[in-house]
Amino acid sequence: VELANQIAAGEVVERPASIVKELVENALDAKASELVIDIESGGAKRIRIRDNGVGIPRDELALALSRHATSKIADIDDLEAITSLGFRGEALASISSVSRLRLVSKPAEQSAAWQAWSEGKDMQVRIEPASHPDGTTVDIQDVFYNTPARRKFLRTDKTEFGHIDEVIKRIALSRWDIDITLNHNGKRVRYYPAVSEHDQLHWRRRLAKVCGSGFAQDALYFQQHAHDIHIEGWLAAPEQCRHQGDVQYSFVNGRMMKDKLINHAIRQAYDSFLTAERVPTFAIYLTVPADQVDVNVHPAKHEVRFHQQRQVHDFVLNTVKQLLLGQHQ
Ligand code: ADP
Ligand code: MG
Repeated sequence: VELANQIAAGEVVERPASIVKELVENALDAKASELVIDIESGGAKRIRIRDNGVGIPRDELALALSRHATSKIADIDDLEAITSLGFRGEALASISSVSRLRLVSKPAEQSAAWQAWSEGKDMQVRIEPASHPDGTTVDIQDVFYNTPARRKFLRTDKTEFGHIDEVIKRIALSRWDIDITLNHNGKRVRYYPAVSEHDQLHWRRRLAKVCGSGFAQDALYFQQHAHDIHIEGWLAAPEQCRHQGDVQYSFVNGRMMKDKLINHAIRQAYDSFLTAERVPTFAIYLTVPADQVDVNVHPAKHEVRFHQQRQVHDFVLNTVKQLLLGQHQ
């Protein structure tokens, strides 16, 4: 069991930042509105995430730690129209096999909190009473302690924390309604207060925290809708584009993506406007019907496959191009 989990962990858990991403997505799936993330030593020593979501009932704690246990898909047909962020049911089992993981949770309707962790070669789950407000904490220590070959690949604390910071930025940009605190070694490093959906001013404030105040001030806001596809977001005018590709964010149905198709369309749209040393600078959001997109392509879920690839590509290309053309007249 442990070995199978460790092999699966190879796909899901590359580094502390990938653990953070899985845990945050679980919290969001659990409808949390508040996240507190504590990191020690770049995540190698500790990753702890507390949420105020629906929690895990006592008798489901053991299940949550076992492989291919997901509460999010009832049958195989559901795979066709996935709306939750997690669905493979292997993140917690995988992470638990390469670290010391403790799960503490209290659903609102349960009077007390319980904690669970697994031990030994057969990953036996132990359960004990605990104390915790409504919601869940996943506390992970000593990442890769039992897989030294992987531990060796971890970079400096600063670099690993940088990756975590980036994961959280992407969450902050995709979920305006979530209150997020990120601490490193006991110090608050980021705080993204929740922002209401229709408040442009507050959007810009969060945008400034994530993408820099220059981008937040000057970026062009746009939205466009056609063939069931909705696109909106912010684009930098060509002469205000950055020299580095650090602000290139795209989201599909609320998921952060590094999608080749979308990136290609945007690059092509900017192509004739950009001077050589600048790169497209953007944060864009695509919404397509759930049955028009396949998210089950990559274990870490960075990529999607659109059923109408051409159509999506050209829609993004044309929308961005029109906007930039408009700017240039
Ligand atoms: P998946 O997210 O693919 O279902 P995971 O291994 O990430 O698989 O999580 C297993 C299960 O544990 C989830 O399906 C969910 O029921 C439960 N779970 C994990 N994290 C949380 C959380 N923060 N709040 C509530 N339930 C959670
Ligand atoms: Mg998950």
